[in-house]
Amino acid sequence: MNTTKEQETKAYSHKRNSTYALYFTGAAISLVFAVLCVYMVTFSRNNKIEMFDNSYNSYSYRLAKEYLRGSIISADGEVLAYSTGDDAASQTRVYPYQNMFAHAVGYSTHGRMGVESLANYYLLNCHTGIGDIARSEAGDEGPLTADSCITTLDTGLQQVAYDSLGVYKGAVVITEVRTGHILAMVSKPDFDPNNIEAMWDELISDRNNSNLLNRVTQGLYPPGSTFKIITTLEYLRENNNSYAGYHFNCNGKFTYEDTTIKCYHGSVHGSLDFAGSFAKSCNSSFANVGLGLDPASFKKTLEDLRFGQRLPCDLPTSVSSTAIEEDVDSHNLMQASIGQGQDAMSPLHLNMITCAIANGGVLMKPILIDRIESASGSSVAKFNPEKAGVLMTGDESRLLTELMIGVVQSGTGTRLKNDVYTAAGKTGSAEFNNYSKDDSHAWFTGFAPAEDPEIAVTIIIEGAGSGGEYAVPIAKRMFDKYFGVY
Ligand SMILES: [Zn+2]
Repeated sequence: MNTTKEQETKAYSHKRNSTYALYFTGAAISLVFAVLCVYMVTFSRNNKIEMFDNSYNSYSYRLAKEYLRGSIISADGEVLAYSTGDDAASQTRVYPYQNMFAHAVGYSTHGRMGVESLANYYLLNCHTGIGDIARSEAGDEGPLTADSCITTLDTGLQQVAYDSLGVYKGAVVITEVRTGHILAMVSKPDFDPNNIEAMWDELISDRNNSNLLNRVTQGLYPPGSTFKIITTLEYLRENNNSYAGYHFNCNGKFTYEDTTIKCYHGSVHGSLDFAGSFAKSCNSSFANVGLGLDPASFKKTLEDLRFGQRLPCDLPTSVSSTAIEEDVDSHNLMQASIGQGQDAMSPLHLNMITCAIANGGVLMKPILIDRIESASGSSVAKFNPEKAGVLMTGDESRLLTELMIGVVQSGTGTRLKNDVYTAAGKTGSAEFNNYSKDDSHAWFTGFAPAEDPEIAVTIIIEGAGSGGEYAVPIAKRMFDKYFGVY
């Protein structure tokens, strides 16, 4: 009896264990399955746009045949791109402003560029009202139009930037400092996106002009004297946020060991304090400043400013470089401190640093898209300003602003002086040809109003000459347009 009971108990226990094992296995499988489901849902949600953007994705291909591609619209309500056609399969893309927004709005055939690339997912999808869908299906109207992308671009500022650059090669970018909204983005030489099909072979084979290159985001230039902003930031960090004790006597050149640095166009600046050296952009004084800096600390500051790294921006951007390393020799340290030699930056990067100075040290991510709306005007998505990091302290930004005001009040940027707004900035004349000292790119980067900054403007004009003479008057036209001065 006992034995039987024991056997029964054992059998029961065995059965129970088996049941538990079964339950356990079942539960484990369910759990694994659930985790997989959650993972797949999360993965496809997080990667929806990337999955969608894969050009082999048949779903996006089907949508492109179903709806007219959505419009691209400026912040002030102008249509920058739209599609037209009796049916979606044979639609034509139209860019009413032709070359003016070429790189910023981009194109959507032969690959994609600019807003056409950034907003592709939205420009193919349609969230229009049910009434429109019914009318379209009843054949009362043409094909439905996919969602519109409302950009941050301002047609007035873009027009002034485009016209001001004239026939020069170069780049202009204007950004709202508190939001990172890109208000204008011009790169020249350019192209007409309406003719991209016909012009494609010619455009990609012309390497001298690189018309398709967005020089704002992907151009790499020697920053010239605009780099003195960065040398100054490092000086402040190594000297307890003070430049009060600095003095230099400029006789037009500065020699250390085998390296001689000369002031621009043979200028002799005489007796200078730090603010004077910055305002007059004295190369000799800044070579002297650079020699006194700690390369390891300088390198760290450059890393803080995103040198050698991808910029926080959804557009493809080039990576800025510098010769400053822990073991940099005195020749390269002096050259780098005045923005010559191996230093190279994109105009967008310089604009981002300028925005951070104007914004108390806080860097906002530069953005081109404000929101997405259905063709009938209802909200689909909104892109809020995004903080991308802190590049410097509030004190550092305040001290740099003081020095940049000095450039406009009494230095190389006096062509920006006016009674309506106070601008702060830095000019640069970056030599790019070792054989002819007359060949230089004209730079300006700055913001206004200095006491409560709203916009930052960065300009480079290739081969134009001095920044003070050529880039500053163009910057003034942008600021004048923004602040309503005529
Ligand atoms: Zn000098």
